[in-house]
Amino acid sequence: MIFATLFTSTLLLTGCQTDEWDLMKITIEDGYDAVPGDDGLIDEAFPEINEADRAEDEENLYAAVPVESLPLWSKPDTQSAELGRLPSGELVKRIDGSGDDSGFYHILTKQNGHEGYLAANFCTPVYWRFEGLKELPVVDISKAEYTYEEMQADLNELVEAYPEILSCRSSGQSVSGREIYQLTLGNPDAERHVFVDASIHGREYMTTLLTMKLIEYYASQYYNGCYHNLFYSEIFDQVCFHIYPMVNPDGVSISQLGEDAVQTEEQRQLLRDCYETDKKYLSFLPDGNGTYYWADNYRGLPRETADDYISYDEYLTQWKSNANGVDINDNFDIGWEEAKYKTYPSHGQAKGKEPGSEPETRLLMAESQKKDYSCYLNYHTRGQLIYYDSFGMEEALLQESYELAQALSEFTRYPIYSTADHEKDKAGFGDYVHTALKKPGVTIELGRDPSPVPIEEFTGIFTRHRETWAMLAYRLSE
Ligand SMILES: [Zn+2]
Repeated sequence: MIFATLFTSTLLLTGCQTDEWDLMKITIEDGYDAVPGDDGLIDEAFPEINEADRAEDEENLYAAVPVESLPLWSKPDTQSAELGRLPSGELVKRIDGSGDDSGFYHILTKQNGHEGYLAANFCTPVYWRFEGLKELPVVDISKAEYTYEEMQADLNELVEAYPEILSCRSSGQSVSGREIYQLTLGNPDAERHVFVDASIHGREYMTTLLTMKLIEYYASQYYNGCYHNLFYSEIFDQVCFHIYPMVNPDGVSISQLGEDAVQTEEQRQLLRDCYETDKKYLSFLPDGNGTYYWADNYRGLPRETADDYISYDEYLTQWKSNANGVDINDNFDIGWEEAKYKTYPSHGQAKGKEPGSEPETRLLMAESQKKDYSCYLNYHTRGQLIYYDSFGMEEALLQESYELAQALSEFTRYPIYSTADHEKDKAGFGDYVHTALKKPGVTIELGRDPSPVPIEEFTGIFTRHRETWAMLAYRLSE
């Protein structure tokens, strides 16, 4: 009954409640006025709403579909007739069904009042109706390859448009001299602070697109968007977000542009050498959806034939490391000695010659302890899940980190996984946060198996994450 609990307090007449109540009323009336059934879905007249029903309606859910499309079933059963498919981000109203019992919500669609059943674990709660994602003008979400230069231009534009909400600075430079930006969302003098980093792995630039779009979303909705009776402006006045949308701009650029991303012949040669060494270990494997992707089985044996090696151009799209061929997320001084990563340059899983050898690693170490951050959100892309722990964490911290993961999981519907249980190698930024800084932190994997993540997944990913920063800030300000 997660949703029911979360929605109860939307009835209090404080903060932005008046606006929210109006919106809820409008939403319900839209549903009642709609003419359903012109696209093959079921036709059904809606009962009149009255004052007595109102209290009950207020407890109903509004949810959005966070995947590309979701089947609407005629019964709470995937073997029943499929009435149609709801597109990503569609708003629905829950009629009944806790979701936890049957695994389904009995719903009405907001758009034209179609009725049916949705798998509950694909529905995410929405507190503030916002259907203008495509109209937000700055960050371009029409393609996946969101470049360093586009981000630079967008940061300027956003800070210019919302100077009282956003500020931006360069926190240092990458191996190739690209700036590593930090953007502040909210009141810099707030009592609490949250640290966010994205694109520590080059090919995972969908994380940059998500964080940039979230920044634009919150800034543009700052004075009318709300969460739990509070305007975003009130929430982010208490809790400030410090966002590093592209920690590894060289790696992102190599993955997007190939050799053109690096400046010197020496660096180009390093990329070619990495290809010759790595190509033997990459395998083309199917994921659970039957989509094939290149997997890093570098601990496996080299192939016997060279017939199906990855091409050089395709290899570079898989680049995770920085311009020195060091994987920043394997370069931290937490279990670095024992970590079984490569010691030679590679597209990924390469720990470098010594811990903290890379400027990007040192920057993260310095920046992450500049403030007494309440928590750390590390965005990655592979697997649609949330990691929350590191080997040997103290019990109280482990619990705190798990609760953070749980709060995010309720919204994103990503399952929570333990890395400590799997004896995963250490030396990552998440391990550094848990072990050196002793702070709660999560690694959030946004997309499915293939990386880079295709743009078709973006709307679903955005929908899952849209309210998460407001939710975290709200929790921290309590
Ligand atoms: Zn990653």
